[in-house]
Formats: sequence, C-alpha cells, structure tokens
Amino acid sequence: MALVPYDDRDGFIWLDGKLVPWRDAKFHFLSHSLHYASAIFEGMRCYNGCIFKLTAHSRRLIDGCKIMDMNFPYTVEQVNAACMEAVKANNISDGYIRPLVWRGAQQMGVAAPQANIHFGIAAWDWPQYYKGDILDKGIRVTTSQWRRPAPDTAPVHVKASGLYMICTISKQAAEAKGYNDALMLDYRGYVAELTSANFFMVKDGVLHTPMADCFLNGITRQTVIGLAQDLGIDVQERVILPDELATADECFATGTAAEVTPIGSIDHIAYAVGPVTRKIREAYGTLARTPKAEAA
Ligand code: PMP
Repeated sequence: MALVPYDDRDGFIWLDGKLVPWRDAKFHFLSHSLHYASAIFEGMRCYNGCIFKLTAHSRRLIDGCKIMDMNFPYTVEQVNAACMEAVKANNISDGYIRPLVWRGAQQMGVAAPQANIHFGIAAWDWPQYYKGDILDKGIRVTTSQWRRPAPDTAPVHVKASGLYMICTISKQAAEAKGYNDALMLDYRGYVAELTSANFFMVKDGVLHTPMADCFLNGITRQTVIGLAQDLGIDVQERVILPDELATADECFATGTAAEVTPIGSIDHIAYAVGPVTRKIREAYGTLARTPKAEAA
C-alpha cells in the first residue's frame, strides 16, 4: 500500500493561532523539541464532526504543560475552540485530531526557559485504526523487552513525546515479528499497557486492569471503567502479574485511536473474543457516536 506522506497533503493546520496551508506547517531544525523531546501531544477522535471527550483531552494537555514547565498560554476553552476549528477547516467527519505543544528554537541546550512555546493542531480523516477481520479475531500481541518507567524516573502521567521512544521501538520490533502490538511491563515487572493503549483482562466475568500508577490513565480507560460499571460488570484496578495472563478468559486494549480492541493472543496464549469484550466495545462505540452526549 502506497504511503501518503503526512507533510504532503491538502488542508490546513492550526498553528499558533492561525490556519496555515498543510504543506507550509514547517519548523526549524534547531527547535528544542526535536533535540530534547520537550513536546506534549494529544490524540482525539471525532465522530460525525463532534470531538469525543474534547474537554478531558484539552485539560490533560494543559496539565501536562505545567508538569513539563512549559508556559502554555491557552485556556481549556481556547484549546477546545482551536481543535474544532482544525476539524471544520479540514471538513472532517470521522477522524483523528493531533494537537502538539513544543519548544521552539530561540534557545539551544537542555534548559531553554526563553524558548517560545508553540501550539499546533492537525486533523485528518481516520475512520478506524484496525480494519477488517482483525477485530473479529483480536490483535496479536507480544511482550516488549522495554518497561514503563517509575513515576520518579519520568513524568509518566503526561502524554509527553519523550515517553514514546520506547513505544516506537517496542511496536516496531513487534511488527517486524508479525505481531500487531507489544505489551509493556512496568519497572516492577507488573503488566502495564500496550504501546499506545491501556490493557484490560476478563476473568470469570470480572474486569481487571492494572492500576495506572506509572502510565497514562487513559481517557478511554476511564470511560470503559464507567461503562462496565453501568453494565453491572465488576471492575478491579489492581496489580496484574504476567503469570496471570494465562488464566484470563478475554483481553482487550483501550485508547482513543484503538477504541476497544480485542486481543486475540499475547505471545503463546490465545484468547477468544468473548461476550464481555463485545458488550463493552459496542457500548463504547454507541457512546462515542452519540452527538454531544459526552462533550467533557
Ligand atoms: N497509553 C498510551 C501510551 C497511549 O499513547 C494512549 C493513547 N493516548 C493510551 C494509553 C490511552 O489513552 P487515551 O484513552 O486517553 O487515548
């Protein structure tokens, strides 16, 4: 399949308060973020032109800027409005929205308090992350050699670009071996998450998910926990040891892009796409597509 390069497309990118033609959204080689990964991003999805959980994503971005010592000048309402502007300018109905905050090129070196803080937003059509029968069979996952860092090693609750370095090499290594994604353990050896999605397993009708104490407490994860409780499914947030994976009945991943994605296998352990996964996947799909039902 031919790749359509992301820097060579029609449309507009919202850049520091203005809509600029897609191909003109360029920045300098000496931008601090390119060298030191001082950037934070978001990943949002819109359904029928309406961004699901928009305010929650905008808040996470702004909270992340504070932790990363970035003087971000926009309010939640302004971020919301800018994201909607990017969606409208590109005429997106079902798509993905990628806001990014980054340090500019005014200063070079590890500390760069005088560097300008830039903000850009791209939006593009992206109806589904996984397509076809993969959703009937579930994705194939292998355990990564890389682990999620401890909360005193990295700003683990921020969607910070630097934290994705180990996700990229983990997912690329998994794909090279014929898998769809990698499962990452944490620094203690507990089950943590996938490279861009949270992890759930079903055992005897109960939903289990690792405590989000050293990785992103995903907005989808929180939504799914609420939906499961509404459906009368017991949810346990707890430590999950890798040995327990062999005892699970069903497993799935959650994320804004992945939505609720069934997992068909982890290394040599196979799972059926079972009734709890199907029920939650359907409930999530319905909620996300209910116009304005969940704006926050
Ligand atoms: N963990 C990681 C590493 C991610 O990149 C994502 C996607 N943002 C998630 C979890 C799920 O987060 P959310 O449900 O907020 O998209």
